[in-house]
Amino acid sequence: MKHLKVDPIKEGTVIDHIPANKALQVMSIIKPEKDDVVTVGINFHSKKFGRKDIVKIEGRELTTSEVNSIALVAPNANVIIIRDYDVVNKRLVQIPDAIIDSAVCGNPKCITNAEEMTTRFKTVSRQPVRLRCEYCERIFHIDELRVE
Ligand SMILES: [Zn+2]
Repeated sequence: MKHLKVDPIKEGTVIDHIPANKALQVMSIIKPEKDDVVTVGINFHSKKFGRKDIVKIEGRELTTSEVNSIALVAPNANVIIIRDYDVVNKRLVQIPDAIIDSAVCGNPKCITNAEEMTTRFKTVSRQPVRLRCEYCERIFHIDELRVE
């Protein structure tokens, strides 16, 4: 079994290498349900990044679309799936080519902010992360968008 710095969990998902202070944004993406047991670690020491946040969700494996949305706020995160205390899958998040319904357009005049509708962005660059709104065609740095 690979060693994790955080207390081991029996089943679930560990999201490691979240940039410091982004854990709460990650939480808003995974939207824990009433019975979900979630542990949030903020400002852990990291050899690679100096400081990092960690989120653990017990009893739940994240879907690909949740993992992809996490990539928007934590592009270097590791998503680790645990079953019976064992690491069964470990992968780096990856920003998808299209972001559907997980970011809010930063243009106040965009139709997506005036009406109740699904937002759509195309990824125009990954390093740094820049997305183009498919409705108003404006290009945003990820920090200009609200991710949810
Ligand atoms: Zn827009």
